[in-house]
Amino acid sequence: MNVNDSEKIRHILEIRGLVRAERESDADVVVVNTCAVRQKPQEKIYSYIGRLPPGKKIVIAGCVAQLEREGIIRRNPRVAFVVGTHQFQHLDRLLADTAFQPEKRVTAAFSREWHELVPAAACRESPVSAYISIMEGCDNFCSYCIVPHVRGREKHRPFGPILAEAEYLARSGFREISLLGQNVNHWRDDKAGMTFAQLLDRLAERVPVRWIRFVTSYPGYHDNELIAVMARHERLARHVHFPAQTGSTRILKRMARSYSRSDYLAAVAAFRKKIPAMAFSSDFIVGFPGETERDFRLTLTLLEQVEYESIFSFVYSPRPWTKALGFADDTPAAEKKERLHRLQEVQEKIQLRNNRKRIGRILEVLVSEPHPKKGGEMIGRSETHRVVNFASRTPVGEFTRVKITAAGPHSLRGTEVAE
Ligand code: SAH
Ligand code: SF4
Repeated sequence: MNVNDSEKIRHILEIRGLVRAERESDADVVVVNTCAVRQKPQEKIYSYIGRLPPGKKIVIAGCVAQLEREGIIRRNPRVAFVVGTHQFQHLDRLLADTAFQPEKRVTAAFSREWHELVPAAACRESPVSAYISIMEGCDNFCSYCIVPHVRGREKHRPFGPILAEAEYLARSGFREISLLGQNVNHWRDDKAGMTFAQLLDRLAERVPVRWIRFVTSYPGYHDNELIAVMARHERLARHVHFPAQTGSTRILKRMARSYSRSDYLAAVAAFRKKIPAMAFSSDFIVGFPGETERDFRLTLTLLEQVEYESIFSFVYSPRPWTKALGFADDTPAAEKKERLHRLQEVQEKIQLRNNRKRIGRILEVLVSEPHPKKGGEMIGRSETHRVVNFASRTPVGEFTRVKITAAGPHSLRGTEVAE
């Protein structure tokens, strides 16, 4: 989502004739696009600004801008603008306004409007994979999460513009698209009478890209219509990011997540019954206030049961305005770190085991970039988003077939096979 927002910022600036610099040191303007989900990255912004050479116009954009507003300018006089999550479209005007008044400081943080911005193909980070925002904000208010406070309530983009953007991306040569939103499976277009599963169905019928992906699906909104649609279309990649957060129903309740461990497992089982090869990934929060060793072990057994393709995991970070801020939390920080370490160790073993099973198999791979260090080597991605390394002359953006010869926990290696 952050990458897609940066693409929107780039688009706004490039249509006004600004050119992206290769390094910060070459730039006149530095736009720092920020995330507020956890505290540490938020704090790093100030040390990052401190390290920038003098004489640059600094813009703080995104969630932290939305959160701290004028406070950022007060804390850091080098910052020229603060631009919130829905105000990127004003960046060019703000820059023009202050071009001749270097001392002017501007804050444009607050708006709950959906402002549609479709970055041009040339402003996309990757030449092969592109993002499409289909919704903004969230209505769930999980007790640890700042997102609804910063990004506001759910706003859904209508079907027409989503389809138009997807068709534009396909025409521009992108090979896969990812639909973005906090809870994409809650998307609907009431005027068109469409659910998320129907959106996928229509896109898969009409948009000629190889893979259509989506992040994030909220397990509490799961319904089996999605499974039926995914089973019907080859274009819908057999991979679902399905964040469980914890394996303990008691902690899920305290997190104000609306599903239980058994609801979650039932959804996973329903997917696999119809689509045996379905791969899952997830996010986990370790050390939520009140999490006991027993709760934590339930998370470990969930990993074993689901056998995730990959996970993102972090220690719980207290956030302003959230309910969990008021919860008693008596687990020492060192113990939380240790739990995170154990979780990641268990997951590594699962990934290694699963990746080894792929040795000898042939995978369809999208060539995504040349290896940065090894000449003649390419890096690609499989349908389930596995990184695959192989010697090849196949250009970026093409699909190829790779026979897997070696496996580590995070990537596979193989040899390209002729068609
Ligand atoms: N809407 C998505 C997640 C959006 S935030 C969902 O509900 O699944 C992305 C991830 O950040 C979350 O899945 C969660 O694991 C993590 N996260 C959010 N708030 C956090 C906090 N206070 N501390 C640690 N991790 C957090
Ligand atoms: Fe945050 Fe929960 Fe909304 Fe996800 S569903 S964005 S974790 S409040």
